[in-house]
Amino acid sequence: TEPHDDLDAYALELDQAHIFHSWSAQAPAHAAAVSIKSGLGTRVWDYAGNEYLDFSSQHVNVNLGHQHPALLEAIRVQSQLLATISPPTANITRGEAAKRLAAIAPEGFNRVFFTNGGSDANENAMRMARLYTGRDKILSAYRSYHGNTGSSIVATGDPRRIPNEFARGHVHFFGPYLYRSEFWATTPEQESERALQHLRRVIEAEGAQTIAAVLLEPVPGTPGIMLPPPGYLAGVRELCDEQGILLIFDEVMCGFGRTGEWFAFDAFDARPDLVTFAKGVNSGYVPIGGVIIDDPIAAHFNDRVFPGGLTYSGHPLAAATVVASLDTIASEGVLEHVRDISENHLGPALHALAERHPSIGEVRGRGVFWALELVTDRATREPVPAATMGRIRAGLVERGLLPFVSENRIHVLPPCIVTPAEIAEAMEIYDAVLTLELG
Ligand code: PLP
Repeated sequence: TEPHDDLDAYALELDQAHIFHSWSAQAPAHAAAVSIKSGLGTRVWDYAGNEYLDFSSQHVNVNLGHQHPALLEAIRVQSQLLATISPPTANITRGEAAKRLAAIAPEGFNRVFFTNGGSDANENAMRMARLYTGRDKILSAYRSYHGNTGSSIVATGDPRRIPNEFARGHVHFFGPYLYRSEFWATTPEQESERALQHLRRVIEAEGAQTIAAVLLEPVPGTPGIMLPPPGYLAGVRELCDEQGILLIFDEVMCGFGRTGEWFAFDAFDARPDLVTFAKGVNSGYVPIGGVIIDDPIAAHFNDRVFPGGLTYSGHPLAAATVVASLDTIASEGVLEHVRDISENHLGPALHALAERHPSIGEVRGRGVFWALELVTDRATREPVPAATMGRIRAGLVERGLLPFVSENRIHVLPPCIVTPAEIAEAMEIYDAVLTLELG
């Protein structure tokens, strides 16, 4: 792979020769089809100069869009002052980032443990819950994504391993998903009630005294953007309280404006014990994640060592972008913008699209967090097959839209700063491709 003038081809050649990809088979036939050289706002460009509307926000993290000047300036200023510093050191940038996260969290959350991303945020939240309760099982939903780590600390050889040796302890349950209900429910109220009864039965069957925490995405993202039905999150909170179980909300994908709120759970009546975050907290410009910790859990470690840590915990370049992002979301009225976009532009546009396309079985979401469920038949809800979804994905890219396609769904996930004109442009592309592939 020698450099040459066709930079688009060179980028793809380098990628195929030297990058070992996440969640992928590695042969060239499975390789990435798009190169990206640059971006601005809701748009990115490849090395050949082709322009794309980014309606995936990359990994659903670029909430403030590409190359936001406030974030770039924060990186520039911090990098010239101090590019890195070890975690035990007091540093104002890191402290300001934590202070701002505590300020947007519910009353009584005052401390933040910083990680490198969302997976290790959940890893550490589960560790805190296990150490705090002295129990080891974690209950989480079958339809969820919480990250990619899990056994590295148990594989560690030195004594830091010992308080973390939880060889077992993950149990799953079904969360609410009315469109494909596991509970034969036909209304949101029924779905909520029956999903809670199912969770109660799982807790009883597992033994409440063995369960440290329930870990939940308030609005599950990757598995399909299922808004919780009325009373569900509050009901989970109640169940946890009854049984001394902690509640961890994973806000990695749904937080920081994605649903038009600071945290997705702000729109629902439930208070967690631990909140995990990453992605939109700083639009992913520098990797960071973490756990926001309720006071009693933080206090548990006042005179007891917390057996966990990371070289880059609270990295100053990342912390600087957290400060800039949270300040920008507040000062630029981003949450208000997302609500307006959702109610007056994106929501109505997607419902209008569904009116034109019987292949859209359901439109659901809020904010800039929407899913289109593609079906071959609205009555049977038969999912559109994978081969067709592959062609839909390719068709969208060909027409200049970077999509997020998962199973039989298109997730519509522009940055929070998307404009009505960009939404109109995207709708024409979705419309054209759905017409071509599904009639
Ligand atoms: N939790 C949720 C809800 C996510 O969507 C993701 C990533 O997609 C993660 C955790 C893992 O985060 P990361 O990939 O930053 O480790």
